[in-house]
Amino acid sequence: MKLMPFNFDKFEDDKYLVSNLAGFHEVISDEELIDLSTAGTVKCNETLARLQSGLFVSPSSSEQAVTAALASGFSKKLIQELSFKPIFMIVPTLRCDHSCSYCQVSRASIEAQGYDLDEAHIPTIIDIIKRLSSGPYKLEIQGGEPLVRFDLVQKIYAEAEKTLNVSNFEFVITTSLSLLSDEIIQWAKNKNVHFSTSLDGESYIHNENRIISSSNSYELATKWIERIIDQLGFDRVSTVTTVTRSLLNHPDSILKAHDRLGLHDIFVRPISPYGFAKKQKKLDYSINEYMSFYKKLFKEISDYNDQGVPFREYSATVHVSRILNPRYSSYADLKSPSGLLLNCILFNYDGQIYGSDEMRMLQRVIKGADFSMGSVDAPNILTSLTASLIDQSFNFVHPGCSDCAYQPFCGSDPCQNISAQGESVGNKSLSTFCKYHMEMFRFIFSKIYSDNQARSLLSRWSDA
Ligand code: SF4
Ligand code: SF4
Repeated sequence: MKLMPFNFDKFEDDKYLVSNLAGFHEVISDEELIDLSTAGTVKCNETLARLQSGLFVSPSSSEQAVTAALASGFSKKLIQELSFKPIFMIVPTLRCDHSCSYCQVSRASIEAQGYDLDEAHIPTIIDIIKRLSSGPYKLEIQGGEPLVRFDLVQKIYAEAEKTLNVSNFEFVITTSLSLLSDEIIQWAKNKNVHFSTSLDGESYIHNENRIISSSNSYELATKWIERIIDQLGFDRVSTVTTVTRSLLNHPDSILKAHDRLGLHDIFVRPISPYGFAKKQKKLDYSINEYMSFYKKLFKEISDYNDQGVPFREYSATVHVSRILNPRYSSYADLKSPSGLLLNCILFNYDGQIYGSDEMRMLQRVIKGADFSMGSVDAPNILTSLTASLIDQSFNFVHPGCSDCAYQPFCGSDPCQNISAQGESVGNKSLSTFCKYHMEMFRFIFSKIYSDNQARSLLSRWSDA
């Protein structure tokens, strides 16, 4: 037998995950790991057969063929990761009526001047989108609060309808819903328009995070979610939940708030690890604290599912899809190379173009560097800093990742590394991105390999 290259991690007592560049994985005992690495084989024939089919070992006679199969599996994964399928984000305004506790740089005050998109840019933006891709397109309208300038949102939609063909794009408005109205809902009625909003648990937690002067963010959000569901249907609204310290002891609050509205697809994520959001100590916590929260949340989700309430959590869905489906590469924040530009292109209110939402945030906090890909009048995509950051974001050559068992499923976040460590590759031992994803992968793998009920739930969620 010939031993092929693999990485490993002890993820449970006496259990080691082994994985290889083609994305195959297997769990073996510590005794089997020692046998495998010293003798190139294991005693149990069944385990040996599994290791052979996962290309971890090869009969000496077929070493060349197994090497070629590994290389082919790796290249197929890489081709998927390199495919160009961006979400096109457009920011009609940076102004916002909220001042959320975790939002530092992606808003301007509602009265501020000079933070709205010049409407003359709209035809150029849609024309660039058309030239970059053949569709179907996903347009995501971001803020600030985009409904502060609903007139611009309508103009963007109308231009897209004219230029991209109405059946060839999806239109998502990310909004707190505070400025939604029945007129806007009527406008959306016969269009492929969706609303993405934040719901950070029940009122006492949501309102602590999401602050709007002289009003109640939770009441506004839930009222308009109900109205969208009633008028347009469940599939027209989705939510994200950002976990701040106040939510750590209340995972049930997220589920109760969603269940009350009849929403069972949830997307729970830790607070942005970017320096500017974490400066507020009252919001901050360790990844260990987050994971202990997340494990409780997952248990409650499983219990709900046992009782026929079909909750599905999107962060776990992304991780399990990366594990079970080597072709899954559509989530910009967990892929290698990074999803900058390949999975996202953002047109900012000031006419500048960025490779992600995080790149425009870096631009606001780090002066003196150009994080843009030029402007709508003079795009500069291929020679931009973004393009060179993609080159540096292949995790299989990164120190720390190259020998990590989770590398084939994990990703790379150059923006977070620049924000926290001042350079794009980053020291993984200091990286919140690394700690978070490593713990999520350990958790998901332990469920896949040791918990039949959880494995079947996760498989149902995955895009495998
Ligand atoms: S609603 Fe969005 S843009 Fe406005 S303050 Fe909150 S997180 Fe920031
Ligand atoms: S970022 Fe961390 S978990 Fe991900 S591949 Fe690199 S070392 Fe592994």
